Amino acid sequence: MFEALQPLPQDPILQLMQTFLEDDRPDKVDLGIGVYKDDAGNTPIMAAVHEAERRLLEGETTKSYVGPAGSAGFNSAMAELILGSNSPLVRDGRVSVIQTPGGCGALRMAAEFLRLCKADTKVWVSTPTWANHLPLLGGAGLTIREYPYLNPETLQVDFGAMLETLERADAGDVVLLHGCCHNPSGADLSLAQWQEVTSLIQRKGLLPFVDMAYQGLGEGLDADAAGLRHLASAVPEMLIAASCSKNFGLYRERTGALALVSETATVNAAATSQLLSVIRSHYSMPPAHGASIVETILGDDDLRAQWQQELNGMCKRILHLRHAFADALSPVGDFDFIARQRGMFSFLGISPEQVGRLRKEHGIHMLESSRVNVAGLNDHVLPQVASALREVLGK
Ligand code: PMP
Repeated sequence: MFEALQPLPQDPILQLMQTFLEDDRPDKVDLGIGVYKDDAGNTPIMAAVHEAERRLLEGETTKSYVGPAGSAGFNSAMAELILGSNSPLVRDGRVSVIQTPGGCGALRMAAEFLRLCKADTKVWVSTPTWANHLPLLGGAGLTIREYPYLNPETLQVDFGAMLETLERADAGDVVLLHGCCHNPSGADLSLAQWQEVTSLIQRKGLLPFVDMAYQGLGEGLDADAAGLRHLASAVPEMLIAASCSKNFGLYRERTGALALVSETATVNAAATSQLLSVIRSHYSMPPAHGASIVETILGDDDLRAQWQQELNGMCKRILHLRHAFADALSPVGDFDFIARQRGMFSFLGISPEQVGRLRKEHGIHMLESSRVNVAGLNDHVLPQVASALREVLGK
């Protein structure tokens, strides 16, 4: 049966990782893969995570099953992180938070759940969006529709076009929004724009679905969640996929959460039971280790303060690099938008051919779309990248 299968081309991001590894130039620069990096180009384990792991190793007494919802302690800590302390949704029993294998697990389980609610569910995603949204949501049988988001000329949000297209969505359609640090563009909605989108969603009876993969890496934990929290306070139903991969640096531990908001506590209890049954039929229950780390950190004042300090350091470093990069590129052209954007990613807006030249002639690696991971820069390589870009752009 398997002999009929044809090999698939390699995933562009994995391909890029391979090409970077094979590049033996000592001054090569990796702006491709989407993980946070420190000044030395490493993706370190956060000290708070190390300490939590030490405590777990000493204190853990069982490896018995956790159940499809995962750990209740992790789930309530995540509810607070995402929705803020004293959220009326939590108080009124209108939200359940379920531990998932990463943000991807949350996205896929939400999609499976949505298909269960309505077999022909349409989901509107931004153009562009994170490439994996399409197989994660489309693979569950949802119909994907696109709304314009980034103006390719200005590399800023084309908010008018976004609203105009969403006006054409039907009641019950799902709208996927990036909570903060839009991947791949770094162009986020302002709070005023979140408010406008919220009004549209309310008026048209759409179902908002927020992907929150970078909370704390844009401007701060609460600031990054402000749009999402406004939306959550205004709509009867909502889904939120959260990831702990970036803000806790737990990538390979597969740690995330899915929040399900319903109009009443009774509806929420029924909907959650259906969601848990969907989970049971996919992977049965989530892996425990990463979630135990997060629960340990968020449940201990000192560890939480230490984690927050480390996360703030990462956030500030990215903001600094954004400004320094835009400054370094000012002789090459107007790259000020990089300083205004948030999170790890921005497009340089150069052609695939120019991206190829940067790689071949200068050892600077990025996705063909010209998406760069700003965290892959440091003050030392900025002049090198700026002068390579100047050459490639003929400036
Ligand atoms: N959403 C977006 C926009 C992302 O960029 C990512 C990670 N690259 C995720 C979700 C999911 O991350 P993970 O499954 O590793 O938690």
